[in-house]
Amino acid sequence: MATQPAHQQYAPAESVEALQRNLAQVQQRIADAARRAGREPDSVRLLPVSKTVPAERLRLAYDAGMRLLGENKVQEAHGKWQTLDDLDGLEWSVIGHLQTNKARFVAQFASEFQALDSLRLAAALDRRLQQLGRSLDVYVQVNTSGEQSKYGLAPEDVAAFIQELPAFSALRVRGLMTLALFSSEAERVRPCFQLLRGLRDQLRDSAPAGIELNELSMGMSGDFELAIEEGATVVRVGQAIFGSREQPDSYYWPGT
Ligand SMILES: *Cc1c(COP(=O)(O)O)cnc(C)c1O
Repeated sequence: MATQPAHQQYAPAESVEALQRNLAQVQQRIADAARRAGREPDSVRLLPVSKTVPAERLRLAYDAGMRLLGENKVQEAHGKWQTLDDLDGLEWSVIGHLQTNKARFVAQFASEFQALDSLRLAAALDRRLQQLGRSLDVYVQVNTSGEQSKYGLAPEDVAAFIQELPAFSALRVRGLMTLALFSSEAERVRPCFQLLRGLRDQLRDSAPAGIELNELSMGMSGDFELAIEEGATVVRVGQAIFGSREQPDSYYWPGT
C-alpha cells in the first residue's frame, strides 16, 4: 500500500457541509483500515488538526461537530482559544514542540499535549498546572525516523524518561506520539510506526504505577491508514479535513 504524496491537493473545505463530508470520508477510511487490520473502528480516535485554519473558519468546524482541535504552535492555539471561548465544550490539543518558557500557555488552556520530550518541560507544565488546579493528558514524543530535524526523545531514552513521570502528578500520561518520515513510500514510513508500537508494547508492562501507555498517536493525512494497520489509536489529520495548506511541510518541520 502506498501513502499519499505529500504534495497531494485537498480542496479547501469552507462550509459546514464540506467539512462534514470530509470528516465522514476520513472516518470511513479509518473504519476500513481498522477492519482490514482486524481492529474495531472505534479503537481509533480522529484528532482534527486545524493549524493555519483561521479562527472564524473553525466556527464551521464546531458546527460540523468537532470538539477537540489539534494545533502545533502554542501562540496560534492560544489566540484561537481566546477568540472562540464562546463555543461551549471546544477543547484544544497542542501537538507541536513547546519551549519550556511557554509551558504556562499550554497549562492554561489545553486539555491535551502530545509533544512531551524533556523533564524540564514536564516540570514546568506540572508546576503551572498545579497552580491552576488543572491536569493535562500528555503523550511522550519519540523520534522514530532518526532525522535531526524531528523533535522527540531517541527511542533508547524513553524507558528512563517514563520512570521519572510519576513525580508530575498533574500530567496524565496516555501514551506515545511520533511523526513518521515524510515519504510516499510505505516501506520507509511503516518502520517508524512499527518502532513506536514495539516501544509501547515493551514499556507498557514496566511502566510505573499510575502511568498508562495505552495510546499510540501516529499517522497524518498522507499515512494514517498505514499507521492504523500498525496499531495507531489516535490519528492526527489536518489537510484531508480542512484542505491543503499553502505552505509545504518543510515550513513546519525545517529540514524535511
Ligand atoms: C500538521 C500536523 C499534523 C497533520 O498533518 P496533515 O498533513 O495536515 O494531516 C499531524 N501532526 C502534527 C504534529 C502536525 O503538526
